[in-house]
Amino acid sequence: MLGAVVAVPTELLACPACRGRLEARSGDGLICLSCGRIYSMFDGGSDLLLHPPNGAEATTGPIGRTVAALAGVPLIYDLVQRLPGTAEPRSRLRRALAEARGVVLDAGGGTGALEPALPSSATYLWLDADRRKLKRFRARSQAPAVLGDATNLPLQDGSVDWAVSVAVSHHLDDASFGRALDELRRVVREQVVFLDAVTTPRSASRILWRYDRGRHPRPADVLQRELAARFRLDSVEEFTALHRYLLVSGAPRR
Ligand SMILES: [Zn+2]
Repeated sequence: MLGAVVAVPTELLACPACRGRLEARSGDGLICLSCGRIYSMFDGGSDLLLHPPNGAEATTGPIGRTVAALAGVPLIYDLVQRLPGTAEPRSRLRRALAEARGVVLDAGGGTGALEPALPSSATYLWLDADRRKLKRFRARSQAPAVLGDATNLPLQDGSVDWAVSVAVSHHLDDASFGRALDELRRVVREQVVFLDAVTTPRSASRILWRYDRGRHPRPADVLQRELAARFRLDSVEEFTALHRYLLVSGAPRR
């Protein structure tokens, strides 16, 4: 661990059970001022999970299961992030985030690989439901962190300036994906940046999907339709770099 971890400002946080305000307890952790629930700290992050996170999604076939199991280990996850073919999405993402400022929520931040892509005008806020990934994140960052559910964000309405959702949607079924987008619209003031791989009829892409943990890949037009229902889209890019990708920036519709 590198020095002191930066705490999440409590005014941003909301009780995941009742959306009440949270207050620091004497000693450690947080208490909900509305329902009285108590939340603890984990590895310098506020643990605002209501239930233990779901385990790795099942992937069909013995090879798929092995790859899925490996991908669940954060160290391997980092290596996957650095595979050839990820440079292009990352450089496009960096451009999409060039104007980011204020608090930037990384909803489903994994090991926090996105933090270095943010401009100095931005304050990174990590959120994920996976404690192992928080441990990996903490190995290189002291930034504020929340253990939380992307489909029920433990954050107040309009509490963050920007948010990013990178490579998350394909892990969510339709109902969860809808809730995750609703939640981003609720908590974000300015801009949401969305990036994920999409399905195409091309076989190379289908083969890659077989080895990904996510069981819910979607075509770009389906993702764009769901995003456009909740955000005023300022920029839409589709590109190919190993996978086919969709990159969208938009402002919350009120
Ligand atoms: Zn509460």
